[in-house]
Amino acid sequence: MSRSNNLATCRKEEVKSFLNSFDNIFCDVDGVLWPRAGSIISGIEETFFKLHSLNKKIRFVTHNNLLGVKNLYKSLSEIVPGLEIEDVITPITIIISFLKEINFNKEIYFVGHSASKKDLLEAGFTIAPSGPERTEESLSGVLNNLKDNENIGAVILDFDPNINYLKLVKAINYLQRPDVLFLSASTGTFAKIGSRIVLGGSIFQHMIEDTSGRSATNFGKPSDALKLYLFNKYTIGNGTRNLFVGDTLEKDIKFGNQCGFQTLFVGNLKSENTNNNNGNQIIPDYYIDNFASLHTLM
Ligand SMILES: [Mg+2]
Repeated sequence: MSRSNNLATCRKEEVKSFLNSFDNIFCDVDGVLWPRAGSIISGIEETFFKLHSLNKKIRFVTHNNLLGVKNLYKSLSEIVPGLEIEDVITPITIIISFLKEINFNKEIYFVGHSASKKDLLEAGFTIAPSGPERTEESLSGVLNNLKDNENIGAVILDFDPNINYLKLVKAINYLQRPDVLFLSASTGTFAKIGSRIVLGGSIFQHMIEDTSGRSATNFGKPSDALKLYLFNKYTIGNGTRNLFVGDTLEKDIKFGNQCGFQTLFVGNLKSENTNNNNGNQIIPDYYIDNFASLHTLM
């Protein structure tokens, strides 16, 4: 932890040399621009305005696609000057780009929420029916729903607040064919929001992986697929003139480190456990309690 610098206590010249040290900013959204459930943090527009006026190219890398990418872009473009829709990167946008690249033309069995489903449909893909919502409560009733559909060429998982037994068991069975791709936009096992605990999609992903014997290709933070996407699409160079900003060590900072980017952690680093599950430390280069206050240091 000792090698992380608190931007708020850095001397003016240090902040200046930090700001001069990168051209591209890849920024998380939830917990940086607004709390996980809440409205934008006061001062965030000033911070992005100043970064934009310093010619920093700002892009967002977020797991939050509950609005759909177009609506998310609309909200973000009201905060960040000069933002284009391609600057908003979610696991679903990368999955779409990947499927287009391989000329995928079969049906998708999709377990996820309606905004992501809409993004996939608008990109021209066909989604197989996921129902029925209920089945007869017998083994034969369940088995009747498990007939293979040979048109399906991919199972895609995302966050699905309406997930159920049949959706899971159908996904597991489609994956019995080895040619069916298994792609995941799921991120996180659970999140604590206020005093409540919300399950993420990864719990269900692990369940499908354990029972199908297949491993999903992940497209969230951190993942090789996301890294490949960024390095192929943008001028990244050797990584060092890029900054990753985010409020989770395990996702944002770990991913920034994976890419060789500089990293800025948003939050109280002292209260975070910088040791990950493997006993390795995830250490950001800098940290700041509140990204919205960055403009006051510039
Ligand atoms: Mg976040």
